[in-house]
Amino acid sequence: MTIHQSPPSSVLVIFGATGDLAKRKLYPALFKLYQKGHLSENFAVVGVARRQLTVEQFRGSVIESIRQTLNIDVDANMDSFSRHFYYHPFDVDDDSAFSQLKDRLNELDARFNVSGNRIFYLAMAPRFFGTVAVKLKRAGLTNIRGWKRLVIEKPFGHDLRSAQQLNDDILQVFTENEIYRIDHYLGKEMVQNIEVIRFANALFEPLWNNRFISNIQITSNETLGVGDRVNYFEKSGTLRDMVQNHMLQMVSLLAMEPPSRLNTEEIRSEKVKVLRSLRSLPPEEIDHYFVRGQYDEGFVNGERVVGYRDEDRVDPHSNTETFVAGKLMIDNFRWAGVPFYIKTGKRLAKKSTQIVVEFKDIPMNLYFNQSGQKGPNLLIMNIQPNEGMILHLNAKKPGPKGGTTPISLELTHHPVHTMNSRESYESLLLDCMLGDTTNFTSWDEVALSWIYVDPISLFWSNQKSQDFPNYKAGSIGPQSSHDLLAKDGFHWWSLPYNEKP
Ligand code: NAP
Repeated sequence: MTIHQSPPSSVLVIFGATGDLAKRKLYPALFKLYQKGHLSENFAVVGVARRQLTVEQFRGSVIESIRQTLNIDVDANMDSFSRHFYYHPFDVDDDSAFSQLKDRLNELDARFNVSGNRIFYLAMAPRFFGTVAVKLKRAGLTNIRGWKRLVIEKPFGHDLRSAQQLNDDILQVFTENEIYRIDHYLGKEMVQNIEVIRFANALFEPLWNNRFISNIQITSNETLGVGDRVNYFEKSGTLRDMVQNHMLQMVSLLAMEPPSRLNTEEIRSEKVKVLRSLRSLPPEEIDHYFVRGQYDEGFVNGERVVGYRDEDRVDPHSNTETFVAGKLMIDNFRWAGVPFYIKTGKRLAKKSTQIVVEFKDIPMNLYFNQSGQKGPNLLIMNIQPNEGMILHLNAKKPGPKGGTTPISLELTHHPVHTMNSRESYESLLLDCMLGDTTNFTSWDEVALSWIYVDPISLFWSNQKSQDFPNYKAGSIGPQSSHDLLAKDGFHWWSLPYNEKP
């Protein structure tokens, strides 16, 4: 094991320890951190959930989930790793159980010599977030000699009002600096790369404004349908599930001014300014800026799939959107007049998350009438899969007649980097243990995102969509999303990796 920067020792309490997130994301991420030597031997994990498991059964299920997710055999590390895991079954509705948890944590505190440091990770349904935080305080679990941190999964509220209520609840127990609101997109290597690409390259920063950029497109396509998240998704829809958090976070990273220092406060403050500059949309204008869709039956990766309304437990007349495309305007000096287009949906043809920066044409194109193909310069950032960047340029077509041909410079992550590229949760868990909140969402960002999104969701919930379902599963989305760009003279550059425009 190579020892890198080790976070201080701590006990991590995972509420929802038998759930999907814990098994598929948290345990594999913790194991990888352990393998890489990022966790000292002085750490313990306490799982909380209702089902009755012995500590051996719990450790077995942790190992199994790591094995399945990472597709690896049991190795010696796994056994020593799992000995840091404990299980404390109880129903969080039972107040008295919290004081028993307190005794258990005190005992592990001493055994693993963690100096009283505690992280509480709420990997359970959102309705528990506020109440669990308050109960932790009441039972004295947050009254400790070390530091305490609270990690909260998405969604942070359902709208501004509920988010404010949740925030008020947890602020009774944790300060803003102790709250780690997860947006797992911020843990992605290429999303973290946006700032570096922008602010560490003389080539890009001078061009990063409305004089040289015609539009920016951010796409996050899924091939999956609603799966077993129906109860949540029916009430949420894609606008709340994807736009309020991930898409707006990417917009703010792409549009922010260079921070005066690379610290959490300065970066967050610049992102907040972008969200404040978003043009708010009065109801009568929403249809000009946003379109929604819902998938019909179709074929995804060659397999027949049902339409959203025919999914198990979905209302057959559901008005919930599974697709959103929108045009966001940022009314500030840098971005006046440059549309930021976003597009995200379920059951689309191909899974990909991609940013395309389209540059304006040069003032006088000498090659305009020459034979061949000439496209705009594009900077493409592939967030997933195949992390990397491509820069599309125009060059001379080989041969005597000349003309132009598009060429691409591929700045692909080297295979070695890709292999070492960390999963979001690995990066975010380590940041949390190290006490770095930069890649988590601040309250101001959450609030401003809801302020932007709430009028759209209100407008949509009052107006039943007449054309749902309006795109076939396995397609590239509804026609309205293409029309949205076409009326501005643009089109989506949803290019597969390596494909030329
Ligand atoms: P899940 O599979 O339904 O797991 C919920 C967990 O909570 C289970 O361990 C369950 O265990 C426990 N639980 C439920 N009621 C309880 C109670 N009254 N007392 C104690 N424990 C209780 O949910 P999930 O998919 O892991 O999601 C967890 C959170 O992460 C949610 O907020 C979700 O929105 C968020 N999230 C999940 C994903 C994902 O990929 N899964 C992605 C992004 C965000 P018992 O039944 O044994 O009590």
